[in-house]
Amino acid sequence: MKSVKHWINGALAGGDDRTSEIFDPATGEVSGHVTLASAADVDAAVAAAVAAFPAWRDASLVKRSQVLFRFRELMYAHRDELAALISAEHGKVHSDALGEVARGLEVVEFACGIPHLLKGGFSEGVSTRVDSYSMRQPLGVVAGITPFNFPAMVPMWMYPIAIACGNAFVLKPSEKDPSASLLMARLWQEAGLPDGVFNVVQGDKVAVDRLLEHPDVRGVSFVGSTPIAKYVYETGTAHGKRVQALGGAKNHMLVLPDADLDLVADSAVSAGFGSAGERCMAISVVLAVDPIGDELVQKIVERVDQLVIGPGDNPESQMGPLVTEVHRDKVASYLDLGVQEGAKLVVDGRETPVLGGGKASGTPGFWLGPTVLDHVPAGSRTHVDEIFGPVLSIVRVGSYEEGVELINAGLYGNGTAIFTNDGGAARRFQNEVEVGMIGINVPIPVPMAFYSFGGWKSSLFGDTHVHGTEGVHFYTRGKVVTSRWLDPSHGGVNLGFPTNK
Ligand code: NAD
Repeated sequence: MKSVKHWINGALAGGDDRTSEIFDPATGEVSGHVTLASAADVDAAVAAAVAAFPAWRDASLVKRSQVLFRFRELMYAHRDELAALISAEHGKVHSDALGEVARGLEVVEFACGIPHLLKGGFSEGVSTRVDSYSMRQPLGVVAGITPFNFPAMVPMWMYPIAIACGNAFVLKPSEKDPSASLLMARLWQEAGLPDGVFNVVQGDKVAVDRLLEHPDVRGVSFVGSTPIAKYVYETGTAHGKRVQALGGAKNHMLVLPDADLDLVADSAVSAGFGSAGERCMAISVVLAVDPIGDELVQKIVERVDQLVIGPGDNPESQMGPLVTEVHRDKVASYLDLGVQEGAKLVVDGRETPVLGGGKASGTPGFWLGPTVLDHVPAGSRTHVDEIFGPVLSIVRVGSYEEGVELINAGLYGNGTAIFTNDGGAARRFQNEVEVGMIGINVPIPVPMAFYSFGGWKSSLFGDTHVHGTEGVHFYTRGKVVTSRWLDPSHGGVNLGFPTNK
């Protein structure tokens, strides 16, 4: 049985007063326990970060960048180990876990360029013999609170940039899959990051609340469900912090009749069932514009029938189990609800065979196979709720306009995609749709590290998206210096407002 602790000031810390179980989702068995932080544990982590901050802030840009380069190499060298940890606690298949590590590494690579990213502006002679220049400086101690579905990638959206900018960081990972955070902490140490610059507190609401109210925490990045994102944003800002809080999603794929339906079916199945649908950028609704619905559903079902479901460490598995029993049951409840609401259950994931087991519904572990619901009524709960599992809903619509109206009527605005061969329609879509990340014939349009990631509406509280240049902006404060070096001719008092001369 493993026991997962905190990482404070370069060492493991924390007792066993309060713990939570860690499961192997493929078997349903308990594989270990994670310590849940008290407010005092959080205070200790923040104190370590406060103490480490001044020296790290003053380390040269080149030195900080060199530590990031070393961290990048170590993470790459340990990617298999990291992926195995993720797969064992989250359930996703190994190749998918490697994919999240790769996407996280892109942010580290971006942050290696911090000397360039932190260049300020300089204006010579803004007034007579007066120069003006701008700089961006780190906030101090910043925190990251992250969800279960990307235990490596989502923290890596945050800490490489925060640390590169000269901040000290406290990570509060999901208690469901906490082990990846400790491997990342050890690799930071090996890369030469001074102790105290990167800390991990394991925990739940107690840890989150203390981070939100702690006077020494200057900024909070959050990724998780919408109700908690809203709570984190409101509580953190009420305590004077800057907060970026990314929430849930319900991503629609709008398919126009002129689209290549084989490409659409491949994309819908990949984006709907990859990582068992537990991705904030998963496609969970296909809006099929008449008259292609029947043909498209047939192509989707053909592909779903071929999917291989099994444990994440079996190389034959394409899709693993869900993260917990409670979550699996919640997702599975939408199969009956969908039918009650008038949808047709075309593929029932409870019946899907599991590698090495029987049907999903009878196999130990948190299994549910890929499920397809057709003719889901627009506006029904199955259509609008974030189900966050392997359930793909097909909603039939009469026109492009009807599709865009449904997308824009939704609570969330994280990602969306249009599939068409009509460039004009795609251009209109990217302009009209109220969503932060758009795919054109691309089902999971996750921005690269040098752009910023974030949704609109209830998918993001705050005004700054994560990583890219917006990430650099979030983790720094601007300063503008106006300087005059006197020459001997200067003199005279002037009480007027300073204006250019
Ligand atoms: P969650 O909101 O339950 O948990 C996220 C974090 O908040 C965890 O660290 C958790 O410990 C903490 N937390 C949970 N309940 C809390 C409470 N009452 N008070 C304070 N803190 C609390 O989310 P999850 O189930 O881990 O992750 C899935 C959700 O995350 C989905 O809604 C998904 O769409 C979303 N997500 C969004 C993005 C994005 O970029 N927008 C990315 C990944 C995941």
